[in-house]
Amino acid sequence: METLQTPYFVIDESILQHYYDMLTDSLKQNWNNYLIGYSFKTNSLPWLVSFVKKNGAYAEVVSEDEYSLARYLGYENHEIIYNGPYKGEASFREVLLAGGFCNLDSRLELSWLTKLAKEYPSQTFSIGIRVNFDLEKMCPGETTMGETSGRFGFCYETGKFAAALQTLRELPNVSIAGLHLHSSSKSRSVNIFRSIAQMACKLQQEYQLSLSYVDLGGGYCGGLEGRPEYPDYFPVVAEELSKCFTPSKTKLIVEPGISLISKCTTFVTSVFDIRDIKNARYVMTDGSRFNIDATMIKTSHLFHIINNKEYSEERPIIKQQIISGYTCMEADRMFSYDNKQELVPGDRIIYENVGGYTMSLNPLFIQYFPAVYVRKEGKLIQVRRKWGPEDYVRGTVQIL
Ligand SMILES: *Cc1c(COP(=O)(O)O)cnc(C)c1O
Repeated sequence: METLQTPYFVIDESILQHYYDMLTDSLKQNWNNYLIGYSFKTNSLPWLVSFVKKNGAYAEVVSEDEYSLARYLGYENHEIIYNGPYKGEASFREVLLAGGFCNLDSRLELSWLTKLAKEYPSQTFSIGIRVNFDLEKMCPGETTMGETSGRFGFCYETGKFAAALQTLRELPNVSIAGLHLHSSSKSRSVNIFRSIAQMACKLQQEYQLSLSYVDLGGGYCGGLEGRPEYPDYFPVVAEELSKCFTPSKTKLIVEPGISLISKCTTFVTSVFDIRDIKNARYVMTDGSRFNIDATMIKTSHLFHIINNKEYSEERPIIKQQIISGYTCMEADRMFSYDNKQELVPGDRIIYENVGGYTMSLNPLFIQYFPAVYVRKEGKLIQVRRKWGPEDYVRGTVQIL
């Protein structure tokens, strides 16, 4: 295993299974009518998609490309949860005609639905609606939208949500089946999900909704010390939901992404060069910030180091070593390694908790996609080879 060419990702299957089972156990115990929609955008590596599919998860997709990938990887239209502001009309129709889950995000989609319902008067369409609401007010300082509004769904406070309900109720063959309440938060706290569940109840009561599902969306924590895990969320969610809903009538949908796959995924890199420039020591590695932090927002990383065993010389303590990536961008620096043993070529830096928003956000910049291995019963199995020029030119129509 030490001889594999770096850089590469490793997904530990038993840890992934552990988290998947932790999620289903908690849902079973607290709301035994549930559905898991795996968030494609978080990481749609085909092996991962097949893994969650085998475990019973539906595909949660937010674009026509993701929809097409789900279909390509074997999902039926009724096994799709279609969300987000950028659906395609053709796939929107396919999903609804097949009885899949579709959560309306805008007036535009409302017009698509109106057209579809009129075209198929003898068919009944079940639809969900994405709610835009002031979660920041319920959980001050915790949301990503903060004081400004979120961009998605129909706004409760301005009456747009009520207006959309009215339009839907005027369509004779459309039933309002679900609410979609996904909201991203900085805190990913239990309190966020308590508030989301409370909002579902509030809407149910205010508008006398008879819902076959409540979709909480994603945004859970998982695999981080001192932070919540699945079993912390669902007793609280169930406590709130049970005030207005029962599992026998209303399904709980969750859309996990990062919480499911972070803990099981590592990224293995090697030091290939050291350079001293003025007072700084740069440790050049074959991994890049683009592999693990493409949006350049991380301020710290979880990692461990394996020393090059062939290097037998003394390793002095170095005041500052700047761990850098292979790209030609100055900003491609991962972290500063201060007052630590000297790093030398051949040492490995292994980043932990890197399953979410890494592979899916990795650009084809300077180096192509790294390999991915799955650790299964102690062995590493390659599930994606390192991309080469043949992969890169694949979509090219004509070279000269
Ligand atoms: C991003 C997203 C998710 C997954 O979020 P995580 O933070 O990865 O759990 C689920 N549902 C929707 C609608 C999303 O946009």
